[in-house]
Amino acid sequence: MNSLVQSLFMTHAFRAGIYSWSSTAAAEADGEAASAAQPAAAIADNVCFELQRLFVALHHSEATSYDPTALTDALSLDTSVQQDAQEFNKLLLSLIETHLRRSPEPALQSLVQSTFRGESCYRTVCARCERPFASSATRHPLYELELRLKPSGGTALQESLLEYVCKEELEGVECGHCSSRQNATRNICLASLPPVLSLQLLRF
Ligand SMILES: [Zn+2]
Repeated sequence: MNSLVQSLFMTHAFRAGIYSWSSTAAAEADGEAASAAQPAAAIADNVCFELQRLFVALHHSEATSYDPTALTDALSLDTSVQQDAQEFNKLLLSLIETHLRRSPEPALQSLVQSTFRGESCYRTVCARCERPFASSATRHPLYELELRLKPSGGTALQESLLEYVCKEELEGVECGHCSSRQNATRNICLASLPPVLSLQLLRF
């Protein structure tokens, strides 16, 4: 979790978005008077506030460590469950996204999507008529690329990316154009890339 939170901190657009959160605006959105007596209630268990606190500590504190318990509590995160880094990244972004949607500020509501979300599609092409299946037009949200590492030096990332989008052969799939089962190829297409593309490097 610490390395993922540090990655979020180092993503300037995300950090700036979190810094823009205002406890006063949140309190007003909740229908509370923005008085000096009530800000504690407005920010208690607030993910934006806890991320702000953590980011400010990383930014300005000279302390050698920071206890993120308040953030994990705000996220209702079960810290007793160990998870793979890529699975945990999905969970963490999903939880942050869910909480940010409650923000009264539109830029914060869409902060995760506007920073990390792209779109991909599975392009399936019939080997006989060479036309793409209708399903090829369906776009899926893309928050990261899970790449398998290649142990071959400096071009490893490029090789992994090429492998990610390479075609696979399919046998006997129904082609809507031919109205019969045909062989086909399928590959992932990156329809749109986010401003910040997250790459998860899988060792296994
Ligand atoms: Zn066909």
